[in-house]
Amino acid sequence: MNGLFAKLSMTELRAQQGICSASCTTYQCYKGGPEKGEGQETNGCPLYSHPAQLEDNRDCVLCMTCLKACPHRSVELNLRPPGIELWTTHTPTYAEVCLLFLLFGAVCLHRLPEIEAILGRSLHLDHFGWHTGASVVVLMIPGAIALAAHQLIRFLRRTVKSRPFLELAYGYLPIVLGANIAHYLQLGLTEAGRVVPVAFATFGLGTASLPIFVAHPAVIAFLQSVTLVVAVFLSVVLTQKIARQSFWTLLPQHLATGAIAAGMGQIIVGW
Ligand code: SF4
Ligand code: SF4
Repeated sequence: MNGLFAKLSMTELRAQQGICSASCTTYQCYKGGPEKGEGQETNGCPLYSHPAQLEDNRDCVLCMTCLKACPHRSVELNLRPPGIELWTTHTPTYAEVCLLFLLFGAVCLHRLPEIEAILGRSLHLDHFGWHTGASVVVLMIPGAIALAAHQLIRFLRRTVKSRPFLELAYGYLPIVLGANIAHYLQLGLTEAGRVVPVAFATFGLGTASLPIFVAHPAVIAFLQSVTLVVAVFLSVVLTQKIARQSFWTLLPQHLATGAIAAGMGQIIVGW
């Protein structure tokens, strides 16, 4: 999950291939080894990645081990346009796209009681079979909307060669991240602020004078709404970048992004 969201990062760690191939024989960055020159002793990259071969952020956790180990100052931490690899060097995979829509659906899954309230009818969540069925359906909803939008693009633009769904699906990445942030903002700005008194109470200590930091519900709702709106905008921009097609060609996907965000806003914020 972190690897997937790291693709949107505005930082990247990379080594300079010219220096590596011209002056290195030890490859301490990913193998590890004893101290050499300016390089410190390390156990090597925990993901066994070579920083000069990295094509996306998925295989790097920014632990900086390679930067410490390199004796030739080849490794650099760079600033970059957020998510640039998604429209340059990126290789899409089915596993990542499945995970992406699973994370989308997971937000709906957490909000099954709210969905029940919006529908105005009982989903019988206390019954295992009904609960399982409802969970599977809500997990599939975002992916199904995205697939339907893609089929619509292909149908409306039969004469234009459309990008495969596997590539365009990454355009939903910002809204998936935004939906997850909006969902967890509720916990972060309420329950997280009670961590000190709860910790004291666990050990039977007094909690009367301990601070509690809880945001007003209106503030939380505002931040959640802003997060979702910004995420929709970034998803539209990213989709345009990945597809390199006209806005009107991709309109069904943009509308699907907006529709999913509106649904998320309703179940998370109560729009
Ligand atoms: S990053 Fe440093 S240690 Fe790794 S191959 Fe390049 S020069 Fe060698
Ligand atoms: S920063 Fe850490 S995870 Fe990333 S390539 Fe270097 S050693 Fe590997």
